[in-house]
Amino acid sequence: MHDLQTQFETKNGVNRAVDGVTFSLRRGESVGIVGESGCGKSVTALSVMNLLPRPACRVVGGSIVYSPVGGSPVDIATLDPRGRAMRSVRGKHIAMVFQDPMSSLNPIVPVGRQISEAMRAHDGVGRKEANERAVELLDTVGIGAPRQRVREYPHEMSGGMRQRVMIAMAISCGPALLIADEPTTSLDVTLEAQIIDLIKRLRADTGMALAIITHDLGVIAELADRTVVMYMGRVVESGKSVEVFDRPAHPYTQGLLSSVPRIGRRTRISPIAGTTPDPFDLPKGCLFAPRCPHAMAVCREMSPPSFKVSDDRGAACWLLKPDAHA
Ligand code: SF4
Repeated sequence: MHDLQTQFETKNGVNRAVDGVTFSLRRGESVGIVGESGCGKSVTALSVMNLLPRPACRVVGGSIVYSPVGGSPVDIATLDPRGRAMRSVRGKHIAMVFQDPMSSLNPIVPVGRQISEAMRAHDGVGRKEANERAVELLDTVGIGAPRQRVREYPHEMSGGMRQRVMIAMAISCGPALLIADEPTTSLDVTLEAQIIDLIKRLRADTGMALAIITHDLGVIAELADRTVVMYMGRVVESGKSVEVFDRPAHPYTQGLLSSVPRIGRRTRISPIAGTTPDPFDLPKGCLFAPRCPHAMAVCREMSPPSFKVSDDRGAACWLLKPDAHA
């Protein structure tokens, strides 16, 4: 993805939900996209899936290039969301686990049929074989008595089971990339741990790449090789997760990390001061400046570019300009 720009046009004006986001993901890699609600992480995912709520929301700039193994690269941002080319990518090559399994599953269709749909559409599998594969998939994601469960409706299942069904649907066609949008948000901690273990196991078994979207830094630490931190539609820091977590470079990342409790550390939890700015009335310069304890005059005038912190790691903050402390 390069310089992706996705906007909402509303009666209050234009909301630049995603404003120049650039990052890449290779086969088998995992990336975690983290930030507060409204930072643009889910809109980034919906842009990749070409499932933006049109006509209000659309990609207005940049590219989302997907390169299938042995195939030609395709820029998803240029494809018709309902066209054949996009439908052959969505679900088959790139699949998504949505935030809320209860509202994402069809309440009046048995889960087995919902899992079978993508296989029948993409792989041309017959009804009987698709049903058998749905049973196998329910077993793979850890649902007991799958032959019986495959006939049940979503309301007959617990929240954890419904989330497993969503994952079974997403992996049914063996995608190269799985996007998981807050896959554990509505679950208790025990179920959260089980879903994290399940995603880890599926990645190890299939080699699929993973983009995990969450505001939960613990989930990112468990699942993501690399972390992308977003604030107000922009990437403010990115790099290897261990480095970002151990030595956060951007004041916003530092604030996120100091606002979560850490077992074994007797440090005071200090939330980030203030709230995110009005998306229709953004401040000049660095968008984090009104909340930043290190804000300088330049921060309120000019938006910082991304400065290199180390190999494959950058952060958009004037403090990291090579001569900032000269
Ligand atoms: Fe803070 Fe300035 Fe860095 Fe923005 S550019 S995060 S305001 S120090």
